[in-house]
Amino acid sequence: MSHLPNRSRLGGPSLSRRLLAGAALSLGLASLAPVAAQASAAHPKIGFSIDDLRLERWAHDRDYFVAAAKKLGATVNVQSADASESRQNAQIENLISRGMDVIVIVPFNGKVLGNVINEAKQAGIKVISYDRLILDAPIDAYISFDNERVGEMQAQGVVNAAPTGNYYLLGGAPTDNNAKLLRDGQMKILQPQVDAKKIKIVGSQWVDEWSPTKALSITENALTANQNNIQGIVASNDALAGGAIQALAAQGLAGKTAVSGQDADLAAAQRIEAGTQTMTVYKPLKLIASTAAQMAVDLAKGTTPAYTSKMNNGSKDVDTILLTPIALTKANVDRLVTDGYFTKAQIDGK
Ligand code: BGC
Repeated sequence: MSHLPNRSRLGGPSLSRRLLAGAALSLGLASLAPVAAQASAAHPKIGFSIDDLRLERWAHDRDYFVAAAKKLGATVNVQSADASESRQNAQIENLISRGMDVIVIVPFNGKVLGNVINEAKQAGIKVISYDRLILDAPIDAYISFDNERVGEMQAQGVVNAAPTGNYYLLGGAPTDNNAKLLRDGQMKILQPQVDAKKIKIVGSQWVDEWSPTKALSITENALTANQNNIQGIVASNDALAGGAIQALAAQGLAGKTAVSGQDADLAAAQRIEAGTQTMTVYKPLKLIASTAAQMAVDLAKGTTPAYTSKMNNGSKDVDTILLTPIALTKANVDRLVTDGYFTKAQIDGK
């Protein structure tokens, strides 16, 4: 690793500041560099590039992140790629040219950001992968909930409600590394049940862009192919669960076939309360967003964040913070109320 990128990283860095520090170094005025570093560290500039703000969960992430970053003295420039690979690339390029100190990314496609992240690194910008791991790129840090654990909770929730019978697996977007981690976790629970011949997996499908309408038609087809004989649907998030439950309802099966989810979306909390969705996985978004904001500010200041583990992304072992998810069924869905995430009236649909 060369000397200059290290300095510019410490310097946090708007472009002009980096140029100034570079000029200072080449003129032998090294003492100017730390002054620039302190100025940047006090008010870091953070870019937040989000796959798709049109989804309920990511709007919560944005709000909590911006509030936490502000409290830490940082400013945040938020961009939504609206599920477009090319738009996300262009937005990250733009954040680089605007001299961010740190760029935090929820990737739409975790496999295609290598070039733009290399550009960010060359400009001395820190890059954090948020919730979804960016693969094959030299990112500085990763923060998420333990997605394998989420998958285990989903499968266990369905197995508890439907210990025997036919299962269908509705997986997440193939462009999202989390989809795979969730499936790994689900299979840890399901495989022993399959081996014991308690359950049979009659089909599975990855759902592009986590689309509820695609989940609806996939579930319709699965029900038809199996003469409605499906006892469990392991859906990897609440959007997919919503589509699946709509298909089940059309066959009079809502509340009879067990369905998992993830995110504690309001509609999912209402379905759990109504008995049509078996469970969801609640991931306190205030926690991930505020921890990520602290991580971003730490990196801008050259302080080491409180990492809990490392995850390999194909390019390196990435310093990681993994947070703990919480399984919710009808028995404990009120946790969302005590946490102030929703009001009781909202969950009751009033
Ligand atoms: C997130 C989920 C979310 C899904 C769709 C995943 O990467 O972990 O919380 O439901 O993307 O946006």
